[in-house]
Amino acid sequence: MAKKDIDWGNLGFGYITTDYRFVSNFKDGKWDDGELTTDANIVLNECAGVLQYAQTVFEGMKAYTTEDGRTVVFRPDLNASRMADSAKRLEMPVFPEDKFIEAVKQVVKANEAYVPPFGSGASLYIRPYMFGSNPVIGVKPADEYQFRILTTPVGPYFKGGAKPIVIKISDFDRAAPNGTGHIKAGLNYAMSLHAIVTAHEEGFAENMYLDSATRTKVEETGGANFIFITKDGKLVTPKSSTILPSITRRSICYVAKEILGMEVEEREVFKEELKDFAEAGLCGTAAVISPVGKIFDHGTEICLPAGMDEMGPVTKKLYDTLTGIQMGRLEAPEGWIVEIK
Ligand SMILES: *Cc1c(COP(=O)(O)O)cnc(C)c1O
Repeated sequence: MAKKDIDWGNLGFGYITTDYRFVSNFKDGKWDDGELTTDANIVLNECAGVLQYAQTVFEGMKAYTTEDGRTVVFRPDLNASRMADSAKRLEMPVFPEDKFIEAVKQVVKANEAYVPPFGSGASLYIRPYMFGSNPVIGVKPADEYQFRILTTPVGPYFKGGAKPIVIKISDFDRAAPNGTGHIKAGLNYAMSLHAIVTAHEEGFAENMYLDSATRTKVEETGGANFIFITKDGKLVTPKSSTILPSITRRSICYVAKEILGMEVEEREVFKEELKDFAEAGLCGTAAVISPVGKIFDHGTEICLPAGMDEMGPVTKKLYDTLTGIQMGRLEAPEGWIVEIK
């Protein structure tokens, strides 16, 4: 497969139009078969449910080129089932999980020329999404929906390579009200934009959000979960019903425990204990594992001693193992890698 003429090594995390996207419509209580289209634009009624009441959910995963030249996708079954959970929470019809996986395969295959080559540090980001498409003016769910998958080649989420980032504890709550923080939905992201822009203006790469009820516990960032490494080498990650259950985090916890033999604790993490950790990182499909060097808490600097100048040694081991599995350098646990043929 001849690849497109793109400067793969210098890609940022942005949108580049690719040749094909998948689209399926829900009408009269059922999904149609869906198809690939070359049209990147969507025409909607002015009163579409998504425009008035933000009825939209999405997912994110990546396709990679392995060292031996195969195109693979990492754990799309988990994205399919999480999107079903998100849809149910917003009163949207579920796009069948088996059809979701087939559609992912179809759209990646059609855009294979955009899957960055092995070793470039880039990947093809896959964005399934669904939205209410018919007019709705009273507050109620739409009757018609569109499910789509777009793809775009991306580089690292944070500029500066593996250099640890500096973040701040945000005064804002990330999630939209009413406990919707644990679903992957545009409305939660819209609620986080002001906090993100504020943090960037102050020179921080990201926010650390605390729980809104007590503001004593660590939740997550806008688009990634946290992992922490204790001084005695344990992996600790926040347990909370209002954070998004990251597939990357679930995979890292498995890798830590089952492959690297580490102790893993998923538990409440208090702001007060941040100063005692040796390393910290953000994890997610986009962030992969991005090391955090410093956390600002209103004038107080919390430093992560083992990961200030470069990725800490334990984070590095987790990163190498996870990306090794994703890029086919290491053997994957059963079912983690789906090959696109
Ligand atoms: C997508 C997302 C993550 C990361 O989840 P992955 O499945 O690992 O990509 C974390 N937090 C939020 C709020 C997200 O939307």
